Amino acid sequence: MATERTFSIIKPDATRRNLTGAVTKMLEDAGLRVVASKRIQMTREQAEGFYGVHRERPFFNDLVSFMISGPVVVQVLEGEDAVAKNRAVMGATNPANADEGTIRKVHAESIEANSVHGSDSAENAKTEIDYFFSADEIVG
Ligand code: GDP
Repeated sequence: MATERTFSIIKPDATRRNLTGAVTKMLEDAGLRVVASKRIQMTREQAEGFYGVHRERPFFNDLVSFMISGPVVVQVLEGEDAVAKNRAVMGATNPANADEGTIRKVHAESIEANSVHGSDSAENAKTEIDYFFSADEIVG
């Protein structure tokens, strides 16, 4: 297993409930290191671009509205097998199906307001990191 990077978002339902630290602790406890982090208010254009692959899905407009409903914390996470490790600690998209101890099981409110985003492949991780961070903002 190689050291790799992945991209994470702490979503508005979690920042609203002051869970940035609690979620970050779960990421760190899973063996991931936060090598970049910033709290931002996404614009509608940014959110639509980020979720472009979901444009045809029925929930696209709701998802974009949710993602701009409050601040988010975008992060770059580093570690061995970081993409898979992050997906494992996140839990299933729908918190009702998430395993015990995962971020979504513990903190998510619904299938939409599910507290975290995490890249689903190393290739998408690179694209998503580049979407929000410049190289000099990432310090490993
Ligand atoms: P993820 O990789 O586990 O985040 O899941 P997806 O890539 O399939 O979906 C992206 C995001 O869209 C999810 O994290 C949810 O916030 C949202 N989402 C997914 N499915 C639904 C749905 O059926 N309804 C609504 N309202 N939102 C959804």
